[in-house]
Amino acid sequence: LEKEIFHSEKLNAIGQMAAGIAHEIRNPLTTIKGFLELENDNNSSAGVYKPLLINEIERINSILNSMLSISKPKVSNKVVKTNINQLLDETILLFVNVLKNKDITVIKKFSKIPEFYVNDDYLRQVFFNMFQNANEAMESGGSLTIKTSFEDDQFCISISDTGIGMEQHVVNQLATPFFTTKEQGNGLGLMISYRIIQDLGGEIKVQSEKNKGTTFNIYIPTKADN
Ligand code: ADP
Ligand code: MG
Repeated sequence: LEKEIFHSEKLNAIGQMAAGIAHEIRNPLTTIKGFLELENDNNSSAGVYKPLLINEIERINSILNSMLSISKPKVSNKVVKTNINQLLDETILLFVNVLKNKDITVIKKFSKIPEFYVNDDYLRQVFFNMFQNANEAMESGGSLTIKTSFEDDQFCISISDTGIGMEQHVVNQLATPFFTTKEQGNGLGLMISYRIIQDLGGEIKVQSEKNKGTTFNIYIPTKADN
C-alpha cells in the first residue's frame, strides 16, 4: 500500500483552504460564545466551563500558528549549507525525553550524504512534524527508525514507526488541510510538510498498515531550482 500523497492541485486550492480555515476557527468560537451566553442566562458559577473555553482558545491559537508558518513569504528564505543527518539529530533531540518515557527506541541508519543548500528551518519543521506524529502513533512504545540515503542526485529520508498505522481512507486524506483523527490534532502538520517538500521540488510517499506502523519517505532532489 504505497500512494503518492502529494497533490499539488489540492494544496494550491487557496479557496478551499480559506474556507477550511474559516470553518475550523468558527467551530471553537461558536463553542466559546455559547458557553459565555449560558453563563449570563443561568447566572451559573463562573469557572465551571473555564477549562473548556481555554481549550477552544488554544485550538484557535494552534490553527493560527500553523497558518502563519505556511504563509511565511518565500522571499525570507535563508538558505544555508545543511547536513541532513545533523539536522535530524538536532530535531530528534527535542523528543528524547518523551520517547524514552514511552519506551520508544530510536534507531538511526544514516548514510554518508552530501551537504546541500536549503532553508534549514523549513526542513526542521518537516522532521519535527514527522517525529511528533510517530510519537503520537506509539502511545504504548515501539521503535522509530530514521534512515538517510543519497542516490541519483536525490536525498531520501525515511521515518518509520511501529505505531497504530492507518487505514487506506486515512492515507487518502493526508494532504487535506485540517484532516485529523486526533482529539487534540489540528490536521496541518502534514499539509505544511508536503508543501515545504514540494517547494524543494521533492515528494513524500507513505506506506502504512493498520496496527503495524507507518513509513514516510521524503525525497528531495539536490538540484532544486528555487
Ligand atoms: P495532526 O497530527 O494534528 O492530526 P497531521 O497533519 O500531522 O495532523 O496528521 C494528520 C493525520 O494523519 C493524523 O491525525 C493521523 O490520523 C495521520 N497520521 C499522520 N502520521 C501518522 C503516523 N505516523 N501514524 C499513524 N497515523 C498518522
Ligand atoms: Mg501532526
